[in-house]
Amino acid sequence: MSEEKKIHENVIIGSGPAGYTAAIYAARAGMNPILFTGSEPGGQLMITTDVENYPGYPDGIMGPQMMEEFRKQAERFGTEVRYEMITDVDFNDEVKKIRTEAGEEIHAHTVVIATGASAKWLGLPSEEKLMNKGVSACAVCDGFFFKGQDVIVVGGGDTAAEEATYLAKLCTKVHLLVRRDEMRASKIMQERVIKQDNIIVHWNTSTEEILGEDSVIGAKVVNNKTGETSTIDATGFFVAIGHKPNTSIFKGILHMDDLGYLITKPDSTKTNIEGVFASGDAQDRIYRQAVTAAGTGCMAALEAERLLAEKGII
Ligand code: NDP
Repeated sequence: MSEEKKIHENVIIGSGPAGYTAAIYAARAGMNPILFTGSEPGGQLMITTDVENYPGYPDGIMGPQMMEEFRKQAERFGTEVRYEMITDVDFNDEVKKIRTEAGEEIHAHTVVIATGASAKWLGLPSEEKLMNKGVSACAVCDGFFFKGQDVIVVGGGDTAAEEATYLAKLCTKVHLLVRRDEMRASKIMQERVIKQDNIIVHWNTSTEEILGEDSVIGAKVVNNKTGETSTIDATGFFVAIGHKPNTSIFKGILHMDDLGYLITKPDSTKTNIEGVFASGDAQDRIYRQAVTAAGTGCMAALEAERLLAEKGII
């Protein structure tokens, strides 16, 4: 006789602030959540230094430490954290099916998606060729290798400003390439960039090619106003131009916008499929903050709980 497959009350996909907050709420509500961390446990905050804008940490907290605390809090109430990747989902029936990288099929009444977003790349052939040979999207992970050297950072947002100021403490010179004549970064972050003597901002500047064969030796750049090209010497090249949502496994299943962000009903985390809720950076193209991700993770768990209660499952 075949054993009937267990149907879990709640499965959470993703382990950033949205996923762990959903887990804390779901676990405390008796939904016995299983949380799949994906390939980058802790999400984007694992590659951040000081988080200074999350309430409750007046002196700031390091991103990885904060995520460790989120995880512990989720586990304290009984969340089962599994360090696995979800590669496939089937949301056609009332019971949702989720397949792990190892091929295991998990059944659940409700699913919270909190798969977050990942760094974007410039798309240059030279970028791909020199990936991890001087090209990086994470100053905190790789900055150390360029101690006492000159590096380039591309981007004009808060990420680029943060990466540039972080690298300025380690490196001799940081060349910040901003493609327009202004930065998108918040005022306070821009001020930090300007204050740092060894950050040289190159306005209206784009990268044509990253130079080097086996390791980065510099970049060929172009001034977008004058068309003039020049070369900047550097051994590290950090791309900090934003992120894209990690939603490809839901393509054709869940409604998403032109950039791939999951679409949820107004004032809700409900997707177009009953029982499937979307939270965090995977559905938020506007705010993309740890605190807003945590907020929507909370909403998703509460909405899942309500649905399970309506159906008499919990
Ligand atoms: P953003 O989308 O805010 O900024 C991306 C930057 O990269 C823009 O300046 C953009 O230029 C530039 N860019 C995009 N594509 C290219 C390209 N192909 N070549 C050159 N430059 C390019 O992304 P961020 O990751 O910086 O920030 C995302 C969100 O996270 C924001 O809301 C931000 O405030 C937040 N954040 C907050 C932090 C904090 O508070 N500590 C730290 C990091 C992020 P253009 O302006 O011309 O479009």
